[in-house]
Amino acid sequence: MLSHWIENGAVAEAGAVGIEVLDPASEERLETMPEGVAMVDAAVASARRAQPRWGSLSPTQRKDLLLDAAVHLEGHADPIIDAFVAENGKPRREAAAEVRFAAGVLRSFAELAVHARTGVQGAAAGNLVFQHRVPRGVCACIVPWNFPIAIAMENLAPNLAMGNTVVLKPSEKTPMATRLLVEAAFGHLPPGVVNVLLGSGPTGAALVGHYDVDLVVFVGSERTGRSIGGVCGPLLRKVVLELGGKDPLIVDETVDLGAAARLAAATTYANAGQICTSTERIYVQRSVFEQFVEEMERVSAAQRIGPGRDPATTMGPLIDELQLEKVASQVEDAVKLGAELHCGGYRLDRRGYFYPPTILTGVTDGMLLMQEETFGPIAPLIPFDDFEEALALANASRYGLAAIVCTTSPLRAMAAIERLEAGMVKINTTRGKAEGGTSEPFKSSGIGHGYGMEILGEVTRQKSIHWRSQL
Ligand code: NAD
Repeated sequence: MLSHWIENGAVAEAGAVGIEVLDPASEERLETMPEGVAMVDAAVASARRAQPRWGSLSPTQRKDLLLDAAVHLEGHADPIIDAFVAENGKPRREAAAEVRFAAGVLRSFAELAVHARTGVQGAAAGNLVFQHRVPRGVCACIVPWNFPIAIAMENLAPNLAMGNTVVLKPSEKTPMATRLLVEAAFGHLPPGVVNVLLGSGPTGAALVGHYDVDLVVFVGSERTGRSIGGVCGPLLRKVVLELGGKDPLIVDETVDLGAAARLAAATTYANAGQICTSTERIYVQRSVFEQFVEEMERVSAAQRIGPGRDPATTMGPLIDELQLEKVASQVEDAVKLGAELHCGGYRLDRRGYFYPPTILTGVTDGMLLMQEETFGPIAPLIPFDDFEEALALANASRYGLAAIVCTTSPLRAMAAIERLEAGMVKINTTRGKAEGGTSEPFKSSGIGHGYGMEILGEVTRQKSIHWRSQL
């Protein structure tokens, strides 16, 4: 059974309820891990004990230690990538890229924190009024399985760089790579600065509500986010929530349809559609609709589905049976209500949670597929007549994470930037988070800045200091 990592030591939990970790490509058991509710106190106490000293180091001292951590991470990349591919299923080159990205994130925040300035206000002679930034204390980081390494590091790095200590709870579906990463990268930090608490929802809930946690940074589903918000609200506990989406993509008649279809396929099928900013609704101008459907069919057929460890694979399995059932039931619901399938729409007849690229037309707003986050490789194509209508359709969702617009018209691009209710608006590109980019999600997609430089503000407090040279 996997062990927790507390006070820089592996902590086995005898007698804990064991949760199975499965290989999504074979459905075989890889590991078991404990449901760590009973260890929440120990993990938080460890982080609390370590925080005053860690928080009082200079940013440069912390930077040096974190830059060393990035080197350690790269030096131990192979076993981390192997565990990652086994438990998550994504193609190996993507897992390897994620580990490299995580090392880069660590370096960026280590450097950024050294240069994070606060302001001075004008004041009368003999007076100083300035802002002083202090760490918040102990941060509970709760992360999902779809980018387990990247997201864990995007939460760990700013907290550590700014002087917080962390209790990290990875997803119960992908604990193995994270557990290896933390021991390899952060084992040289003072004991208790980084702790890994293993477990599922009940462990996460106990951690969020623990009396000695100062800040919660959560990345995951809307449902869990609402539950965490419900715990943090009455406790008046600072919380950052980065949740789900139902991203629209608008294709107008002015663009190269082959290029637009390649972009649509990339953003719909990457990570088997299991990205918070996956495209889940594709609105296409009616004059080019039929042609676009054909282009989408062509690019969809080029996907190679298989286990992540096969170098030919471009699309791995869905994460588990539950996720596969959710995707399949949304497609079945749409077909039952009159949607037409152009490809896919069935579970592959082999072991593993494989679901192929699926294109649907004739979908309507009432279908589950158009309302709920799908998190699968499903492309519903919907025609629109004019751009105003497309913007209204794109905004007709309770989510507001990101949106893409393909157009050659600067006027339409500007209208989209100004009026789409989404934290990220991408024109003619799929690239979401440029390094340093940040956004606050709209509507049910979350609150606060989970990424970019602005997260430094979320994980610290600013005091305003009023100082007169004498009484
Ligand atoms: P999830 O909400 O089921 O689980 C996320 C984490 O929360 C896991 O570690 C889980 O154990 C824990 N958890 C579950 N119940 C809890 C509770 N009551 N209290 C505290 N913790 C609890 O999400 P998931 O299925 O792991 O991830 C997929 C979701 O994450 C999708 O909705 C996706 O859009 C979203 N996501 C968002 C972003 C973003 O940046 N906005 C990035 C990646 C994924």
